[in-house]
Amino acid sequence: MSDKPRKYIDQVKNPVVRPCPGAKNHFCCNLVIVSQILNCPYNCSYCFLHTFFGREEIVIYRDNEKIIQEVLAYMQSAKGPLRFCTGEYSDSLAMPEAESLAVQLVNVFSRQRKHLLELKTKSINIDRLLSLDHNHQTIISWSVNPPVIIKQEEHDAPDLDKRLLAAQRAVAAGYLVGFHFDPIIYFPGWEKAYESVVREIGETIPTGKIAWISLGCLRFPAAQKELMLNKFKSRVDFSAFLPGEDNKLRYPKVMRIMLFSQLIAFLKKYLPGAYCYLCMEEAAVWQALDLGKENPPVFQFANREPVVKEGREVL
Ligand code: SF4
Repeated sequence: MSDKPRKYIDQVKNPVVRPCPGAKNHFCCNLVIVSQILNCPYNCSYCFLHTFFGREEIVIYRDNEKIIQEVLAYMQSAKGPLRFCTGEYSDSLAMPEAESLAVQLVNVFSRQRKHLLELKTKSINIDRLLSLDHNHQTIISWSVNPPVIIKQEEHDAPDLDKRLLAAQRAVAAGYLVGFHFDPIIYFPGWEKAYESVVREIGETIPTGKIAWISLGCLRFPAAQKELMLNKFKSRVDFSAFLPGEDNKLRYPKVMRIMLFSQLIAFLKKYLPGAYCYLCMEEAAVWQALDLGKENPPVFQFANREPVVKEGREVL
């Protein structure tokens, strides 16, 4: 774990509960973000936080009671069911402060049946969640990648085996879990490596315990490339990247469709029936893939409308 400096704050300028800003001209899954922490103790080379925030320090808003009040007000004013998530501007469980808020939120969400809470993590810090009466309203989800990518690009984060073991423990405690293949990174031998991850999930987690699986290809602001190379000695092959409609560098559309198609084939083979969606993708990419037409009830809040707004300030 890194020793990045911590800065604690008691007041914030902006609401901490807000709709995901999404990516311009890309479909959004309509997540509601709860921003308690800005920045992360892990050091994934590709993480947008390095350039978005641009500082080492981790900023932690410590008024959990106010955060809970804001979440409750947002839940109560919502017309339809929503999915809330604490893992957009940090990891949902990597730090003790995040874990403490997660415990409180699991309890809040357990008292209603309309909205879901997602705790998105690469950590294994779930001990405090296991004994909670979560009432199936919280999904704990893990970002996953082949071990070689974790070793080269996801510095300080737990390895794949540990993440999957934590997911098994969550399932044993009655939680539904999720997986995010995000970012998918192309490298020689990627097919076998990603197939092996999907197979391992299929061998250890029953499909019926998986709420959703998301797929997203590597994308990053242009300024990040230098940082990835110089600071993190990234071994990502940058030769194929082009500016996307959101001005981030992305693999070309045809390559993304190829990567997604193969991942979807692996999911159908090893996790048949698992619900899968794309994170921040264009309409043409959705249309080129066989993802099924109907959302299952657990994901009825998915919104396939393009979003055009982009927010910057967090806390
Ligand atoms: S775990 Fe997530 S938030 Fe943390 S550095 Fe990696 S990508 Fe960024």
